[in-house]
Amino acid sequence: MKAIKNIAVVAHDNCKNELLDFISCNRQAFARHHLVATGTTGRLVENMLREHAGEGSGIAVNRLRSGPLGGDQQLGALITEGKVDVLIFFWDPMQPQPHDVDVKALLRLAVLYNIPTASNRSSAEFLISSPFFDSEFEIKDCGYFDYADRDLSE
Ligand code: PGA
Repeated sequence: MKAIKNIAVVAHDNCKNELLDFISCNRQAFARHHLVATGTTGRLVENMLREHAGEGSGIAVNRLRSGPLGGDQQLGALITEGKVDVLIFFWDPMQPQPHDVDVKALLRLAVLYNIPTASNRSSAEFLISSPFFDSEFEIKDCGYFDYADRDLSE
């Protein structure tokens, strides 16, 4: 993946403040990258960035549908197309979601495609502190894609 990354950000409602605070505190780190977000998360991130003049205020946010309305699936599709480099997804460990299957599908694709993924603030801090966050990084093929060439002749 390239040095300038497409970073997907998503947070369930109870985790949105945490994600907003995380991005706000790290606007400088995010400033050279591109954000893609599920609808409501993206709207709140845009509002937060607008309130902060200067560093980070020019970060572009590509807003998809709201998660429960298909946004998680849109993100999953972008992962399969190689258009998401990093996933920061603060999912709620305490509340079932109406779109639990979509959440699971998104997290599955992130693992399958070996996308660096952070599910809470500590892992997100580690991720953006990595030297690879601002440099090129080669994603290793974990061997899952041999599946497409499996032998079905028997
Ligand atoms: P939202 O979706 O950003 O539109 O609230 C988040 C989610 O996937 O639940």
